[in-house]
Amino acid sequence: MTASDAIFEHLYVHFPFCARKCPYCDFNSHAGRDDLIDRYIDALVLELERWAGQVRPRTIFVGGGTPTHGDASALERYIDAVRDAFDAAALEEFTIEANPGSLDRAKVRALVRAGVNRVSLGVQSFDDRLLEMLGRVHNAADAVRGVEILRAGGIERLSVDLILATPGQSLADQERDVARAIDLDPEHVSAYVLTFEEGTAFTRLMEEGRMPAPEAERDLAHLHVVCERLAAAGYERYEISNFARGGRVCLHNLAYWRNANWLGVGAGAHSHRDGRRWKNVDDPAAYAAALERSDAPLDWEEHVPPPSQLFESLMMGLRLADGVDVNELSSRHGIDVRTTYEDVIREHVAGGRAVLDGSRLFLTEGGLDLANRVIRDFVP
Ligand code: SF4
Repeated sequence: MTASDAIFEHLYVHFPFCARKCPYCDFNSHAGRDDLIDRYIDALVLELERWAGQVRPRTIFVGGGTPTHGDASALERYIDAVRDAFDAAALEEFTIEANPGSLDRAKVRALVRAGVNRVSLGVQSFDDRLLEMLGRVHNAADAVRGVEILRAGGIERLSVDLILATPGQSLADQERDVARAIDLDPEHVSAYVLTFEEGTAFTRLMEEGRMPAPEAERDLAHLHVVCERLAAAGYERYEISNFARGGRVCLHNLAYWRNANWLGVGAGAHSHRDGRRWKNVDDPAAYAAALERSDAPLDWEEHVPPPSQLFESLMMGLRLADGVDVNELSSRHGIDVRTTYEDVIREHVAGGRAVLDGSRLFLTEGGLDLANRVIRDFVP
């Protein structure tokens, strides 16, 4: 076996269907196409079979879309197929994303039977006014009920996912939201500031002046409130927007941030193996049609040159609280980090935004606040 056909340890599975398209969402997600779900699952099974023997997962992450959208039998069919496709002897973490309101006891039973041990619940807010504004189909009571169903069903690890700095949300609202999340006692919290992505309904509204544009200072103030409350409750900030208690970090996402190899299956899924990146077609019908013809559902692929690979490793690794090991990155990418980035590192260390401690390079709290700006300086 060569480096180019190394076994994948991290598997991502995409389920692109949702009850409704949220106005801020630029993910590959589709509402009103539930008639495609059965055909899509058949195609997913075909794609999983194509990769037999090349995956021995330590982590599996089923994302979307809303992977728990659709009925329990559809969920059971594809989640069992994911579990059965590969040798699961090394599996440590099996995550699925779920939305409150899309869960019931039968679905949670199917998840636990398949070996799912972690659920990332898209709560976003506990304020019904903000949930409506975000176009979510659930309310705060659904979120609390979702957590109860998951815990009663035996899900060991729970992440509550929040959106911060929604237009109209005050700092006091933000504080209440994070306090309600902590009350539910999850092992993990993800807290992302709302972003305005190209092509979304929110971005159109903003461009038409009907929605306020984001302000960096306001966004940071919301993030700081959340960081402080979570730290006080014993959550460690291990990545800019991710917090875990008792070391219960998301191993799958950690692999992305460390620029590891991973296989993505499903419509629009990305994959990475030793500097080769590729992506499947986005459209679920086109994806299914390719697999029905026994073709690869490939949209594009590229070979990333070593300087860009190194930049990717820095860009993602510097999001982590413990940063990157410059010696490890130098030997992995064949480029000496200390000499290539000598001036950039010196400038950010002198400015108090970064620390180089032995071979570990990481951003300070102030540096994490300015992470995008700092990371831009590493562009090759
Ligand atoms: S539920 Fe999630 S994936 Fe689906 S439209 Fe909303 S934000 Fe996008």
